[in-house]
Amino acid sequence: MRTGILGGTFDPIHRAHINIAIKAYEEFGLDKVLFMPSPNPPHKNEKEITDINHRINMIKLVTDNNPKLEFSDFELSREGKVYSADTLTLYKESHPDEELFFIMGSDSLYSFDSWYKPEVIVKMATILVACREDNTNNSLKEKIEYLRKKFDCEIHEIYLKASNISSTMIRQNAYSVELSDFVPDAVAEYIISNNLYKSYIGSKRFTNAQILDDLQKSLKPSRYEHTLSVANTARELADTFGENPNKAYLAGLLHDCAKCIDDDQSIEMCKNNNIELSEFELNNPALVHAKLGAFLAQTKYHIIDEDIINAIAYHTTGRPDMSLLEKIIFVADYIEPLRTKQPYLSMLRECAFKDLDYTIYRISEDTLEYLKKTTENENQIDTNTKDTYLYYKNIVENR
Ligand code: FE
Ligand code: FE
Repeated sequence: MRTGILGGTFDPIHRAHINIAIKAYEEFGLDKVLFMPSPNPPHKNEKEITDINHRINMIKLVTDNNPKLEFSDFELSREGKVYSADTLTLYKESHPDEELFFIMGSDSLYSFDSWYKPEVIVKMATILVACREDNTNNSLKEKIEYLRKKFDCEIHEIYLKASNISSTMIRQNAYSVELSDFVPDAVAEYIISNNLYKSYIGSKRFTNAQILDDLQKSLKPSRYEHTLSVANTARELADTFGENPNKAYLAGLLHDCAKCIDDDQSIEMCKNNNIELSEFELNNPALVHAKLGAFLAQTKYHIIDEDIINAIAYHTTGRPDMSLLEKIIFVADYIEPLRTKQPYLSMLRECAFKDLDYTIYRISEDTLEYLKKTTENENQIDTNTKDTYLYYKNIVENR
């Protein structure tokens, strides 16, 4: 008996889950695929999750009509944190004749090393990882190869058409999209008739308190402190130059929101979301957080103000002819009071509150100097940084 296991919150179950399960069933000659919802996944906030009975009912609406798929309550009877390693061990004990195939998404694979007992997972099951059909990104292949060697295990890819379906997106838009595009008709009807996800209507925009809470969880402590410091500095600069201080504070809060996502995952996320990266950015993944941060500001924090989004996207390199807000974030990021390493900080801190263009000219000059010292080939320096320098130098010299 060959059994596929697809775990998750299933809040709600959607078409991408079903496609992965069926593809795994067909390609790997499985006898069944179990949809195994977790009661309280270790990495999610409990109160955000829909009542388990609703989640089970929705899974059953799918599995009851498909002989390939089965609902499993195997994880539901367990108390406390439920880890995949324990689930697989216990399942194997009670079903010794079954060969297990553990199905996961490529995002999960990137963090697989840091899961609880990954070595047990790979011992109990063959890993099947869902990949995009058009995936040309080598980082996923490299990660798979790395894990195969590290754990001496079997990992196979399941190729699927690119899909933008996610449970988060469905919860947030359940009442404003054609639901059956994303979930089977029966599930769509269930969601509507049980008023599920109503509390998400109009709640998309995060409050500053929610953003702070979220950043505190996703950023390293020193990065979080830097973020607060940039936001406060941006607000002071906004007061000085007549920009909206709340807008500057918000842009400051979000400017580094993608900074603590690791390089491989950042590049993969850009790839999956059609965020174009230059050759230079691919070679210097530390820069990617600016564009990725701008993307997260829109999709995760639901910021629609273009000026804020651009201020995040260009905070590291700057660009010619920046808006007032872009200038403020660029400068605040460099001069915020917790910075110590950059040269001329005290001069720049004084200048910043008098003359933004001059400050940008000097900052980009120092950044270029630094890059020239640390980069082997000068041609590899990002053109935005050079253009910013030349543009603001020209402004300062011609007045
Ligand atoms: Fe940054
Ligand atoms: Fe920063």
